Amino acid sequence: MTHNSNISSSGNTPSSVSNGSSDERLVVAVRVRPLFDMNDIPCLQVTPNAAILFDEGSGGRNKFRRYVFDHVLDDAKSQEVVYQKTTAALVKDVLNGTSAAVFAYGATGSGITHTMLGPNPKKAATPSTATSSSSSSSTSGSDVSHGDGLMVKAIDDIFKFVENSENPQEFRVSISYLEIYNELIRDLLHPSAGPLELREDNKGNQIVSGLSEINAISRYEVISLLLRGNKARTVEPTAANQTSSRSHALLNITVTHSTALGTKQGRLYLTDLAGSERAKKTKNRGKRLQEGAHINKSLLALGNCINALAAGARYVNYRDSKLTRLLKEALSGKCKTVMIAHVSKESRHRDETKNTLVYAERANHITTRLQNPQ
Ligand code: ADP
Ligand code: MG
Repeated sequence: MTHNSNISSSGNTPSSVSNGSSDERLVVAVRVRPLFDMNDIPCLQVTPNAAILFDEGSGGRNKFRRYVFDHVLDDAKSQEVVYQKTTAALVKDVLNGTSAAVFAYGATGSGITHTMLGPNPKKAATPSTATSSSSSSSTSGSDVSHGDGLMVKAIDDIFKFVENSENPQEFRVSISYLEIYNELIRDLLHPSAGPLELREDNKGNQIVSGLSEINAISRYEVISLLLRGNKARTVEPTAANQTSSRSHALLNITVTHSTALGTKQGRLYLTDLAGSERAKKTKNRGKRLQEGAHINKSLLALGNCINALAAGARYVNYRDSKLTRLLKEALSGKCKTVMIAHVSKESRHRDETKNTLVYAERANHITTRLQNPQ
């Protein structure tokens, strides 16, 4: 998602980045949602070395398969640990002028929005109750289910860095926030405006015409904008999730650092994808069913891109959906990307969990390709 075509990228990794994953082009993490129904039997186990042992069997017959990823975040991991393992290093890269992307994927109700926004973003927007990302410590038990999501923590870190720098006035932080709903792009910061056009410039950058980009001077301002945008998001109850996101939401934070020596610009793309769903299970009808078809179609297009990239294909078709067009930069290796796949460990969600694990495993193969280009 590029609003103007010039992304000046230093390509340098700051020395302060200790997380080795920052050097990988695509990192795949899987987050396991806690059991909500204590009577249900888990269909998976998290094992050492970032692996998941998944029981494919049903009807009392066990058939285990092991899936390995860059990171597996079990259900005891706090929001802060999830942030540190997936996004903190990328934020440092963005502050240094590199582009980076995080996209959260999974079945409806698997915890995608919980990871990206957190259960209580309103609290994060209030100065008196705000928790900075370091103060919402990983040791805090309540943070396991109540901490701020990655969007809020990333915003916190960016503003902390800017405010503590020698010359804060050299930085400009701006955000845009859009949703793709039924293949139409809506500006979440200006929701009353009509659908926006997506076009490609002569350098192949995707441009969303007329998308508002708002300069912000404090974390509270950005989080308030985020909340305002989120309110405008298309969310409907479905059988699988009371507040099911029916759209894909893309938040873009741009940090521009201008000094006498030049200008560096880094962009962070944070994407909260609508959950994939099975029409039979969600019992959706009419409008819901049609939305589901659009959601699944764009996720299928994303899956096809991932498959093609994993197979090392020369040509990858990003054109099949607005989502893949907008994520093109993130997927094609031009920026560092983290995919966070979400799964439930409950046996009744076994099919969805399997689909997500297979999807994420394919994405995991891209890492190898991008690191070892022929
Ligand atoms: P979706 O994947 O559809 O975006 P949500 O993030 O809205 O799903 O999660 C559905 C419900 O499950 C919400 O009530 C959310 O607070 C809860 N939930 C999801 N993941 C977790 C988690 N890791 N810890 C505690 N609650 C969670
Ligand atoms: Mg959601």
